[in-house]
Amino acid sequence: MFRTDVLVIGAGPSGTVAAAIVKKAGLSVRIVEKESFPRFVIGESLIPRVMDHFEEAGFLPALHRCNWQKKFGARFKKGDVWCEFDFSEQFTKGWTWTWQVPRAEFDMVLAEEVQKQGVPIDFRAEVVGITLGKPYSVTAVRHSSGREERIQARFIIDASGYGRVIPRLFGMERPTPLPPRKAIFVHCYDHLRPRGREGWMISFVVHRTDVWIWVIPFNNGITSLGVVGDPTYINRFGHDPEMALRTIVDHDPNYCDRFRNVEYLWKPRVLEAYSATTSDMWGPGFAIVGNSVEFLDPVFSSGVMFATETASLAAKMAIRQLQGENVDWKNDYAAYIRRGVDVFRTYVCSWYDGALQDVFFAPEQNPEIKRQLTSILAGYVWDENNPFVKKHETLVYILSRYLRSRYTLPVATVP
Ligand SMILES: Cc1cc2nc3c(=O)[nH]c(=O)nc-3n(C[C@H](O)[C@H](O)[C@H](O)COP(=O)(O)OP(=O)(O)OC[C@H]3O[C@@H](n4cnc5c(N)ncnc54)[C@H](O)[C@@H]3O)c2cc1C
Repeated sequence: MFRTDVLVIGAGPSGTVAAAIVKKAGLSVRIVEKESFPRFVIGESLIPRVMDHFEEAGFLPALHRCNWQKKFGARFKKGDVWCEFDFSEQFTKGWTWTWQVPRAEFDMVLAEEVQKQGVPIDFRAEVVGITLGKPYSVTAVRHSSGREERIQARFIIDASGYGRVIPRLFGMERPTPLPPRKAIFVHCYDHLRPRGREGWMISFVVHRTDVWIWVIPFNNGITSLGVVGDPTYINRFGHDPEMALRTIVDHDPNYCDRFRNVEYLWKPRVLEAYSATTSDMWGPGFAIVGNSVEFLDPVFSSGVMFATETASLAAKMAIRQLQGENVDWKNDYAAYIRRGVDVFRTYVCSWYDGALQDVFFAPEQNPEIKRQLTSILAGYVWDENNPFVKKHETLVYILSRYLRSRYTLPVATVP
């Protein structure tokens, strides 16, 4: 039976970052991945905090060589009002830019890099069972040839994304407090893309307070276009995803001209009720990272950042445990990650109930508050010196009430 120190399930951003960090510590590590690469997963808008993790994993030189469209900020629009955040003007010291990435290509580069670092990946190898044990757990893997293999590992990192292998096998999936939302998205030929900055800037447009449209231009002329939000509204446009997406975008004055009749590269895809959580993030001999452990909402592009944050932390703690240290998974992993998730959850909820939109689109913009919010959007959600981290549950609602009492705030395209 094959034996390794660490077995990583899944070769997405969380799996490759975790494996690279384990490998650097001199431990043996292997990745098993269900699909063959390149494969597409949604998640194309990154936020600056991921750069810290890619640097730590040694991926940055290879990522730089890809010359993807750089992302220096994020902008949002409601009615006629734009609100733009510039990552170079942040409260927390950190990365001031990142990329907007074609995900299939991006994940392929990460997988190639981790293999160059000496981590073997078995593609088309699906984990179908795990028997936990000490000092070794045994993972059953089914290869595409039909061959079944058992792998002994001292530690398992579940980075299986939407596969959620350990939460499913061990009954750890839990309902999320967020209401179900729906997304329809596609890649299209953006032949009417404006020249210059307007053409490559990433944009999120409020269509209705609880429905928004994303526009993520890549530097190959292709743009990712998506609509996200309340399923009852999106379902009004029928069950054909292409018809629904085209109708919603056609009714939106911001992008109707640019995207009317554009050629879609594939049939638009639909994801529904994608928010997920687990009863626990770790257990004896394993840790769950990335989307497998928690996913909130796409609105602030935090998915890959949480994937790599959890991966980096779990990998470092697994290394210490395997080297004989006592590690406190409950406090130093689960509680720490939950603090960041809770901060983002507040901003996701207050986006959809409109309070955060009041703050973004108010005529009065306090520069210090803007810098603090920019750091949240950049992913620096563990900096307790930032009042919008420390008092995340209350500040945005206090501000929203104040702004509502003072100003007439912009309304969405569709009431
Ligand atoms: C509509 C929508 C839009 C989004 N937009 C963004 C965005 O703009 N920016 C952002 O940062 N995030 C975004 N996300 C979130 C993003 O998709 C994820 O957070 C991110 O891909 C998580 O990475 P991961 O490494 O955890 O998992 P993945 O990237 O999903 O990788 C997991 C891997 O595990 C493999 N796997 C699964 N099951 C098994 C098994 N049994 N055995 C072996 N391998 C297995 C899979 O094949 C896959 O390759 C979005 C999500 C949604 C729903």
